[in-house]
Amino acid sequence: MIVSIFNDVIGPVMRGPSSSHCAAALRIGRLARDLMDADVQEVLVEFDRRGSLPTTHESQGSDMGLFGGLMGWDAADERLRDSPKALRETGVGIRIETVDTGDEHPNTYRLTLRNTLDEQHTLIAISTGGGMMEVVNIDGFAVSLFGDYHETLLTVSGNGQALVQRLAALIEVDDIRLHEHCGKQLVQVKAAHFLSETIIIELRKVCPVLQVKRLAPVLPIASRKDTTVPFTTCEAMLLHDAGRNTPLWRLAVHYEMARGNLTESDVIARMVEIVRILRRSIQQGVAGTQYDDRILGHQSGKYGQLMQAGRLLNGGALNRIVLYVSAMMEVKSSLGVIVAAPTAGACAALPGAAIGMAEELELSEEDMAKALLASGLIGAFIATRWTFAAELGGCQAEGGSAAAMAAAALVTLAHGTLSQAVAAASMAYQSMLGLICDPVANRVEVPCLGKNVLAASNAFSCANMALADYDPVIPFDEVVETAHRVAGQMPRELRCTALGGLSITKTSLAIEAQLAGKKAAACGASSCACSQ
Ligand code: SF4
Repeated sequence: MIVSIFNDVIGPVMRGPSSSHCAAALRIGRLARDLMDADVQEVLVEFDRRGSLPTTHESQGSDMGLFGGLMGWDAADERLRDSPKALRETGVGIRIETVDTGDEHPNTYRLTLRNTLDEQHTLIAISTGGGMMEVVNIDGFAVSLFGDYHETLLTVSGNGQALVQRLAALIEVDDIRLHEHCGKQLVQVKAAHFLSETIIIELRKVCPVLQVKRLAPVLPIASRKDTTVPFTTCEAMLLHDAGRNTPLWRLAVHYEMARGNLTESDVIARMVEIVRILRRSIQQGVAGTQYDDRILGHQSGKYGQLMQAGRLLNGGALNRIVLYVSAMMEVKSSLGVIVAAPTAGACAALPGAAIGMAEELELSEEDMAKALLASGLIGAFIATRWTFAAELGGCQAEGGSAAAMAAAALVTLAHGTLSQAVAAASMAYQSMLGLICDPVANRVEVPCLGKNVLAASNAFSCANMALADYDPVIPFDEVVETAHRVAGQMPRELRCTALGGLSITKTSLAIEAQLAGKKAAACGASSCACSQ
């Protein structure tokens, strides 16, 4: 699938501590709900023992997202924090088990669902980072489904190939696949709309259609057959530009127009809407947020007061950036609305840097949107080649990507050149290589706040260095490849499993036990809807 800035990089708009847990799980849940025709009575969720989810699914919000998705909720729904309880109250039986399946991907969800008619289906999906996911198996059929199409699934018997041919003759769709498994056949149809009843009646004349399932898209930007984008790597973008020095934000607009079949004003208007969401969240964070299941309290308020009173060290615009990064992280930790840009864990560095600096410079929301678009294109180059998932790459994948994106945004705000924006991104990412992921008490707060501040501060320095034409030496694409290679040399314990680094300090374990005790007391030990 071709990466979209709005699907894969700047978004989703969501609640929760981790996009690869909450937002991706919610999307998986929504697709599973559609597979069950919105009738779920029992769900068994299985996680492989060697993956990251057995130790993180509850504390990092997979349960919250998955169960919200099974109820058809949106990723920013304010009821999400109570979704496990709400799902149980609807009478749905939930079991979560750790199993030995040897799944290759650390974020693999195996669901077995049953409805009131005793119909059973299985669905296997992986969360690939930043809220993106892929359904890789339905009822034993090896499928590939990203939530970017209206998907009609037809279980057929008899001559499935003839049905495929008839369908292709009847209407134009984006893709038709015939899957076979244990003597059964499944026809998967990707299109801009579901197959109509009229078409299905026609198909039934060719061979028996035993079951029809309609899975609605869960991504904001739909895919289309034969979509092409002008470039997918930084090197190709520079070649495409051919020395014209087109601003990075404008190249980002061209990219997303091609990817999403959008006009220039659509692209900018969508990003302005995201800027408004981010600004509201930052103001909420500065004003103060409350949430029980959290390590850090409201710290940004005092920082803001000292900053206003001139009692902090004089960091210029950097002081406001640190304030906004802190505020955004506090909103995330209180399950307020955030934008995963590129992930929820690293949701604060980019908006903190870009909006903080833009406000210092008294720039407009459209200027902020252009800076975010520039950052989005840098993120698209990362997502095309690699990942934002800390489970695969450690914090270099989250915080490193955020730093690179923020650096490009800051150069854009300063009206730097294309090559300066790319140089800033390269230098910022280089400085984050090897960064481990080791959340304290399995919450995405510590050292995540510091790592977001680090990413934003690093971006600020690298933007200024790039504006002064410092030489990054290593091209951006090669830095991304290096991060990927370094990830392969990092032990699993340091990639978001909470099994290494600060996660296993005495203090971290004590805080985790204390938070678990508080939660159990709040729920009532025997009837806690959050436990398994
Ligand atoms: S340490 Fe980095 S990657 Fe890990 S949860 Fe925190 S912000 Fe995300």
